[in-house]
This record gives sequence, C-alpha cells and structure tokens, in this order.
Amino acid sequence: MHELSIAMSIMEIVSAEAEAAGADKVSRIELEIGAWSGVEPDAITLAMEEAVRGSIASKAELIFLWTKAMAGCEDCCNEFQPEDVFKICPYCNSLNTHLLTGKELKIKSIEVVTN
Ligand SMILES: [Zn+2]
Repeated sequence: MHELSIAMSIMEIVSAEAEAAGADKVSRIELEIGAWSGVEPDAITLAMEEAVRGSIASKAELIFLWTKAMAGCEDCCNEFQPEDVFKICPYCNSLNTHLLTGKELKIKSIEVVTN
C-alpha cells in the first residue's frame, strides 16, 4: 500500500526529530497534503494511525491540512483551480499554465513533550 510506506517515512522523520530534540513523546503532528499529491485522504489517515502505533508518537494528535490545487496562467496571469491535469486556463483557454499548490506532501510541524 502506497500510503503506508509514506506514513512510515513520515514517522521515521518524526522519530528522528523527536530524538534530536530530546523529547519523551510527540504530542502533535501536522501534515500538509495537496489534493494532487496522489495520496488518498482516507488511506493516509488510516496509514498514519497504523504507523504511530507503538512509537514515540503513539498518543500524538494527527492533524491533516489539505491544500487544494491552484494553477497560474503565464499568459493572462490569473490564478485558478485546475479541473484536470491539462490545467487549461478558464480565463483565456491557454495551456501555458503551471501548478502553484496541490502537490505538497510534508510535515508542517511537530510538537513534542520533554521532561
Ligand atoms: Zn490565462
């Protein structure tokens, strides 16, 4: 399962960060995931719950921040929500567009508890 391996890599980073900070527990993990990152919301939620089990972050609150896809047009400089991979500009029908947000898949913040 694609999402489980992503969740495991996230947990590797979280554990390393927590250890580096001398933390006893991770209390909160905030993840930012783009609508076009290729990650299924339900699957990654389940995978993260699975990945934290028995770890330093087993009691951590998991926060998922979903960012929607936004594209920008090179020709008319408008920004819009693309409907598909072609990202056709709805203002001028240009194909000369680029994705601004939506592919994120990152740890936004980690909160730890130290004694
Ligand atoms: Zn345009």
